Amino acid sequence: MPEGRIVKALSGFYYVADEGRIFSCRARGLFKKKGAKVNPLVGDWVVYDAINEEEGYVMEVGERTSELVRPPISNVDQAVLVFSMYKPAFSALLLDKFLVHTEKAGIDSVIILSKADQVSEEEVAAVVQKYEAIGYTVIPTSTKQQRGLQEVRDILHDRISVFAGQSGVGKSSLINALFPGVSLQTGDVSEKLGRGKHTTRHVELIALDGGGYVADTPGFSSLEFMDLTELDLAEAFRDFSDRAPDCKFRGCLHVTEPSCAVQDAVESGELSKERYENYLQFREELKEYQRRN
Ligand code: GDP
Ligand code: ZN
Repeated sequence: MPEGRIVKALSGFYYVADEGRIFSCRARGLFKKKGAKVNPLVGDWVVYDAINEEEGYVMEVGERTSELVRPPISNVDQAVLVFSMYKPAFSALLLDKFLVHTEKAGIDSVIILSKADQVSEEEVAAVVQKYEAIGYTVIPTSTKQQRGLQEVRDILHDRISVFAGQSGVGKSSLINALFPGVSLQTGDVSEKLGRGKHTTRHVELIALDGGGYVADTPGFSSLEFMDLTELDLAEAFRDFSDRAPDCKFRGCLHVTEPSCAVQDAVESGELSKERYENYLQFREELKEYQRRN
């Protein structure tokens, strides 16, 4: 039986893309995994049974490499985190928070520094260096100057990507500059549609020319530290987990433990003090969340 990718789910139908053709499929029966019911998700790689050129049944759902809740999409390869350099001003605190969530979700992140035309090159370079040193790809862009667009197209190629970032950073402008005619649902619009109804809201993967998909809805709309343990939080900082093997204690949270490689590296300036302070602040927010829930 043929295989394809679910690119849209709406009103009980799953739209399965297979080599440029779309089959609207019903799910046949329930998909069970370890006794739990599995609903097919947008992004799923599935086995389907075509009954004609346009319709069929989803028969089997493949293993997922990742599963996002908001928007509900599986197998996302990367989050494209759009952070503007100006209006809204660049916030390392917010970026570090997004990174905690993408790391927890097991998804790679690419950082886009939008509106690079609005600040000095030194300012842009400082952010690029800081996050490249941690191991992230960072791409300065400007839709005004057509800067960085080809690099962004290249990283989107053959992958499933979800854009994320505050409203006003330039996500829609960027998508439009990259792929004229393609639009991103804004958070505001989907919120309005979603209120009181649950059928109108849907997610769709937009197929890119030459391979790859982009979700039409921005991701990570909630940044609450749900289901996160203290250790998850520590491990979500790549630069810390790189050094954790050198800490004296296994499961070190890098706070008050003696002989901690992370605290030492922050003190010597090898690790960013700002990021470490953001980490401490997130620990407080996590504790506050746990008190409330
Ligand atoms: P979104 O809410 O993230 O989708 O942001 P928009 O794409 O709607 O952009 C918000 C504002 O930023 C708009 O007024 C855009 O014209 C402006 N903007 C977007 N990209 C750039 C850029 O590269 N340079 C400058 N100077 N302004 C930009
Ligand atoms: Zn430590």
